[in-house]
Amino acid sequence: MDLGIAGKWALVCAASKGLGKGCAAALVGEGVNVVITARGEAALLATAAELRALNPAVQVLTVAGDITTIAGRVAALAACPRVDILVNNAGGPPPGDFRDWDREAWIKAVDANMLTPIELIKAVVDGMAERGFGRIVNITSGAVKAPIDILGLSNGARSGLTGFVAGLARQAKLASRNVTINNLLPGAYDTDRLKATLSGAAAKTGQPLEAVAEARRQQSPARRFGSAEEFGATCAFLCSAHAGFIVGQNLLSDGGAYPGTF
Ligand code: NAP
Repeated sequence: MDLGIAGKWALVCAASKGLGKGCAAALVGEGVNVVITARGEAALLATAAELRALNPAVQVLTVAGDITTIAGRVAALAACPRVDILVNNAGGPPPGDFRDWDREAWIKAVDANMLTPIELIKAVVDGMAERGFGRIVNITSGAVKAPIDILGLSNGARSGLTGFVAGLARQAKLASRNVTINNLLPGAYDTDRLKATLSGAAAKTGQPLEAVAEARRQQSPARRFGSAEEFGATCAFLCSAHAGFIVGQNLLSDGGAYPGTF
């Protein structure tokens, strides 16, 4: 299927590795020019080279910086000639017990996983409406639907974003102008972040890493982790010309791990 977005420009945040990289690769495969960001320059440049090899016909630009800072967002937006597609992403907050989190920890989580995407949406959404095309996908987490005890900072901050987006996406001045905003909720995906989480659990319990990983795989009916490539393909479809009637949704991609009917 031709997704009908060749020649568009996408800003894909936090995209040198993992899910962000998967999204950038899928968009590049569809002929979309991309600006990708991450803090570490070496991995960012290596990913840009991979993306250019994937599709030499598109432009791949890089902005090294922290997307959760004003300077990082200004630089990312300035590099993108026109934001037709915005993929919001950043690292997730650390796990822990809420008794140990002070105001500073909460502000950091809310800043990164709620206010950063909102600021970026604010910067691009009216231009999208004027041009009659816009796709915004926020990478959130399955924890928005089924909270994970030790990820309270993530549960809270991402739920705040989800509630805000539910209202904004339904503004007629956006939806009637072919501008969609949706959230994509990953379950367990095979990325560096998941490896770090599993290694932490293995160290804490004294179990072998592979045993911890296998137990986690068994938690989903798919009995496997998702791949960044399949996550990216789902994101690219939400960004496609065909997805203009999908508005304000929370799409869970978790191999069936969430047990609810809805
Ligand atoms: P990952 O493999 O660790 O990749 C994270 C990417 O984001 C890297 O490119 C990293 O590069 C970049 N990044 C992190 N913080 C950044 C910042 N402040 N500014 C700019 N770039 C930043 O992580 P992932 O698994 O793809 O996870 C992506 C998001 O999905 C996270 O919020 C995570 O919590 C969420 N999530 C993941 C899973 C999963 O199973 N993988 C499940 C649920 C939710 P630098 O470090 O160089 O900046």
